[in-house]
Amino acid sequence: MSKNKHLPEDREALINGATYPESKKTQQAAEKATTYAASVTAPETVVVDKPPPKPNYPLYRVQPGERISLSDIDPNTSEHYRKKKEVMVELEKHRQRIRKLQERLYAENQRSLLIVLQAMDTGGKDGTIKHVFREVNPQGCQVWSFKIPSDEEASHDFLWRYHHRVPQRGMITIFNRAHYEDVLVVRVHDLVKEDVWQQRYHIINEFEQMLTLSNITVIKFFLHISKDEQKRRLESRLENPDKQWKFSKNDIKERRLWDEYQQAFEDAISNCSTAYAPWYVVPANKKWYRNLVVARTIADTLEAINPQYPNGEKGLKNIVIPD
Ligand code: ATP
Ligand code: MG
Repeated sequence: MSKNKHLPEDREALINGATYPESKKTQQAAEKATTYAASVTAPETVVVDKPPPKPNYPLYRVQPGERISLSDIDPNTSEHYRKKKEVMVELEKHRQRIRKLQERLYAENQRSLLIVLQAMDTGGKDGTIKHVFREVNPQGCQVWSFKIPSDEEASHDFLWRYHHRVPQRGMITIFNRAHYEDVLVVRVHDLVKEDVWQQRYHIINEFEQMLTLSNITVIKFFLHISKDEQKRRLESRLENPDKQWKFSKNDIKERRLWDEYQQAFEDAISNCSTAYAPWYVVPANKKWYRNLVVARTIADTLEAINPQYPNGEKGLKNIVIPD
């Protein structure tokens, strides 16, 4: 970077990222917490005793620094499973695991889980929530959907409205669309200049690390469908009177920008899949397989978090409930 005449040299070094002013101790503490978080977000290394687990979800997790190309990932794949019937028992097993682990997470009241769902239109975010979280106690689980920002939201920094909604201790929170919209739709529609959205990948990584250090495990799913599959789903919305409410003429305009969106997703996923807050690219043309992959990944991540029921108060053994 060229020298900036207006800045003293030490300030310039800071701005160029040459150094952080933190002490070694501070850096080490943050590193330790991040390393712990990274073990939880590779749950197969913690909870699965015999490899390889099926579905092989590490296959779908994007490694930090890996550059993905969505056209190389088959949205139709479903491993050895051929039809919905074959996954029903397994899916139910994972739903029950999520239910029990969520109860422990809530009781422990120390840590929490943030699940980010992103997809192209009709990608299945709503359906995934409906099918994966069916058994969960609604008291311990919140869903937030993020649409076009309100005037108030738009007059703050872009993370403001998301930060406000991250999970409290003990909770599972699902973001149905999330802070990634600000490097997706915002980029595709030129809502801010390129140098503004470019720096956001960095801001997002730091934001997610901050959440991680606050005992929030962050996992992110991109539900990957093909352009053909989107066409089928849009047609089915048009044809079915009970589904027409989901159809917007705007969906057609957005569909014309398919390639631009795929490019924006590739960059977002490649730039922001970190060891502590990984992206999973889930083959999502088959809804039942998508549900299985997401449910299992969440169940295993919760198991790796391993929440514990707190001990009861001391001396409970001697207590007699009066008549
Ligand atoms: P979905 O399509 O996810 O099921 P929906 O159909 O219920 O959502 P829509 O109004 O179609 O609701 O989608 C919300 C719209 O808001 C999307 O087009 C999305 O890209 C847009 N949006 C979300 N966040 C932002 C943002 N930060 N800036 C601009 N537009 C945004
Ligand atoms: Mg929509």
